[in-house]
Amino acid sequence: SQIILPRVLPLSKRLIEQTVLQGEVVVDATAGNGNDTKFLAEHVGEEGHVFAFDIQQQALDSTAERLQALTERVTLVLDSHAHVDKYVQAPIGGAMFNLGYLPYSDDLSIITKPDTTIEAIHKLLGLLKKDGMITIAVYDGHEGGKEEREALLQYVTKLHQVDVHVAKYELLNQLNKPPFLLAIEKLRDFDEPRMI
Ligand code: SAM
Repeated sequence: SQIILPRVLPLSKRLIEQTVLQGEVVVDATAGNGNDTKFLAEHVGEEGHVFAFDIQQQALDSTAERLQALTERVTLVLDSHAHVDKYVQAPIGGAMFNLGYLPYSDDLSIITKPDTTIEAIHKLLGLLKKDGMITIAVYDGHEGGKEEREALLQYVTKLHQVDVHVAKYELLNQLNKPPFLLAIEKLRDFDEPRMI
């Protein structure tokens, strides 16, 4: 049966499917083990392109392995998503974040950080097409997760409502601390979002 209130990761994919067109350029800001990168590469098709960022070579290797032949549609970037504007030109069709640490990694202390995550979102909002969407899966159960959650909520709440709509989605009855979703939809053209 169809689930109307999906979990966070399926919902983030659904939002991207509804806003990103075939042939567009998109960004996976946190490649990790490549689940979102693969989804994005399949969705944008042969004419599209994915820029996938991670600061760990191990993550990019794991992503490349998952992609197989789809690697042709993907540029793997070993750099922080905070430098996205060095690699990617406007307009992009959408972007996905999956915050926290790399699952199954030897070093679970390597995590996304408030300042760089916010810098990346801010720059990606400028690069995004009008009507485009940025999805962010936010985990707050690990060490450092609460600080990132608080900083992010403060930042997105201050984005001007004429420029973007920001939504937070969360299932409230789940065990094992699943992520919540932040989704940001760009409503008009701008190079840099205004803050209130
Ligand atoms: N979406 C991924 C998947 O499908 O497997 C999972 C991503 S994992 C939760 C978070 C990733 O963000 C880790 O691989 C970590 O190395 C990476 N990361 C941490 N800080 C980063 C930064 N500043 N720029 C880019 N990636 C970063």
